[in-house]
Amino acid sequence: MIDGLTPSTFENAVGDRSAPTLSALAAAGEYRRGVTTFPSLTPVCLTSIATGAHPDVHHIPHLVWWHRGEQRVIEYGSSFAAIRAAGTRRSIRDTIVGMNQEHLSADAETIYEAVDDAGLTAAAVNITCYRGRTRYLPTVPGLAPATFGPKRFFYYNLYESDPAGAPLSVRNRAAGSIDDYAAAAGRWLVTRDGFDLLVYYLSDFDFASHVYGPDGARTALARSDAAVRTLVEAAGGLDEFLDRYAVLLCSDHGQTHVHRAARLQDHVRGPAIVTASNRAGMVYTDEPRAVAAQLDGAEAVDASFLLEDGEIVARRDGDEDAAVLDEYPGGRERVAAALRNPNAGDLLVSAADGWEFADLAGSHHAGGGSHGSLVAGDSEVPMLGIGIAPPARTIDVKDALLARLGVARVPA
Ligand SMILES: [Zn+2]
Repeated sequence: MIDGLTPSTFENAVGDRSAPTLSALAAAGEYRRGVTTFPSLTPVCLTSIATGAHPDVHHIPHLVWWHRGEQRVIEYGSSFAAIRAAGTRRSIRDTIVGMNQEHLSADAETIYEAVDDAGLTAAAVNITCYRGRTRYLPTVPGLAPATFGPKRFFYYNLYESDPAGAPLSVRNRAAGSIDDYAAAAGRWLVTRDGFDLLVYYLSDFDFASHVYGPDGARTALARSDAAVRTLVEAAGGLDEFLDRYAVLLCSDHGQTHVHRAARLQDHVRGPAIVTASNRAGMVYTDEPRAVAAQLDGAEAVDASFLLEDGEIVARRDGDEDAAVLDEYPGGRERVAAALRNPNAGDLLVSAADGWEFADLAGSHHAGGGSHGSLVAGDSEVPMLGIGIAPPARTIDVKDALLARLGVARVPA
């Protein structure tokens, strides 16, 4: 999984010498565009991929949200400044452990739990939704609480199931040191054929794409390609690699260019809590309909959504018309599931083209790239299958992989 890789970037890179490994994989497989969940933000999207479900089932609503039970903001890392604004220690704990052990619904089943329960070995490298059955202590005592991950687990040097000798991941993010760590762990795993399922998560591409925009991250894509090549070479070459493994290559969401940023909270009056970041916002309020009307005419807002008597009310610039939902890929299904998440705000807001909502600390990516909204650019992902038919939605990835492994899905 290459975080934030857009279909157009992938399609343009295929056949291009800058991405030789991705090109070779594409030549061996079947490709289509897929659709992710809403809000199209990393913690929500990765959790949907890992659980095969939308947020109504897994309960992770956004990068930043209001915890009604604990009466506090949860911030998974919109920006370093936003983490500071929400409380550094608490935010890091929420991101690393809280999301998996407390916020992720106990009723959702992760792919690692399904694979391990079937007596097979699941491995995960760096993916932030990792809940499994094996207990881990941090590599440095006291640095983080104990957590539960898959049987084989490598997480930014912080939790490691095996002594793979991978280099320090946080040394230089801009130069791709996190994916270097992932590649070292991946090489170790493939060399030993040490898994039945490997979730190999490369996060550096999204980081570069936020800074340079979705088309400006070619150097970063070359590094993602090299990180995939590491796996192929560890198996002894492409033929050996594809003899041994089926491959599903995808991303968690897209990205679009953003030129301007706005504070969503500046448009909301009265008692309400606004959590916004990237291209999605949520408002926690007893009067979602009134707040939706307050957003009429706000340039940064494309549309807003709320539930009334179980039905979606969609509003854009003063007009209430659920037909708006049909303008987005999977619009009705994704908005309904997002609103039926008990941790979501009472009003969900999708940003207008080119706009971003500033986070808790006022940070944004104007001049670069962002995602989170319902529009196709934020929502579509490349989906390449080799030995697996590529699914149309990211929530179908889990079942596709389990079927390939011969693991029957536990009925909901
Ligand atoms: Zn992402």
